[in-house]
Amino acid sequence: MVGVSRGDYVICQSFTFVASANAILYQGAQPIFVDSETKTWGMDPELLEKAILHCMSLEKKPKAIVPVHLYGMPVNMVEIMRIAKKYRIPVIEDAAEALGSSINGKMCGSFGDFGVISFNGNKIITTSGGGMLLSDNPKKIEKAKFLATQARENFPHYQHEEMGYNFRMSNVLAGIGRGQMEVLNERIESRRSNFNYYKEKLGQIPGISFLKELEGSISNRWLTIILLDPKLTGGIGREDLRFALADENIESRPLWKPMHMQPLFESAPYFGKGIAMKLFKHGLCLPSGSNLTNEELDRVIDVIINVINN
Ligand SMILES: *Cc1c(COP(=O)(O)O)cnc(C)c1O
Repeated sequence: MVGVSRGDYVICQSFTFVASANAILYQGAQPIFVDSETKTWGMDPELLEKAILHCMSLEKKPKAIVPVHLYGMPVNMVEIMRIAKKYRIPVIEDAAEALGSSINGKMCGSFGDFGVISFNGNKIITTSGGGMLLSDNPKKIEKAKFLATQARENFPHYQHEEMGYNFRMSNVLAGIGRGQMEVLNERIESRRSNFNYYKEKLGQIPGISFLKELEGSISNRWLTIILLDPKLTGGIGREDLRFALADENIESRPLWKPMHMQPLFESAPYFGKGIAMKLFKHGLCLPSGSNLTNEELDRVIDVIINVINN
């Protein structure tokens, strides 16, 4: 939709789920990874500009920029859009985890030339699989629908003039999605209330911290994450907590392993300061389902407090 083809450069946030970067490989293009900033865990605008200038010095202006709102927390879209406009590079905003999150009242997914939202089973609302493409450009949306339905031309017979895909959402799943839209606000409230509960009970413990919303930003708090500082927890690290929780039959998970650290992307250029790597090393996703009760959250909290106190 933005004209990325074989050999083109596309700048992508390194700290993300692999889907953001695989989309670049599908086009035969070269991902250029950019690190996160500590304020949002999203793409660092300064490093973005550095990466753009590097690509341009090789006479390969990037064809797109892919920032990602992680765990529901809005990326600094204002600054990223300013830089993207300065160099006239389209932005494809990965808002897969951030449906309902916003910056100064504007929804995540609506800043870029395109936005993508996921309705996969693990997201805040779901159609079991599938997602949504957003754009202010009605022609591009028409074109996307056309390509998603095997590029069938407008003829009574089946006429095809270019390659298409079977990427449309089925009507059954779309029906489920319309129902899910009605509970979105409730789901956001539950996720935010999980976060507040964890923060209230764990926020005072030395060596445990939570990511704050910047002024004007609202996160759907899709997942609640704690960051550990082993210097302050008496040496307790992410894996110690994860194992202790697993012993109590509680599943917790490390954060996304940055793309520039993945064997799949070993040879891809990376611009960074090791922020995403540190977040991966010290962060833990706590149970964050929309239907968790305070008693269930207390079970998680008790395990964490016990491990740190002993
Ligand atoms: C879930 C997710 C995706 C992929 O969404 P699908 O609907 O499963 O294709 C992409 N990016 C991020 C950041 C995600 O968390």
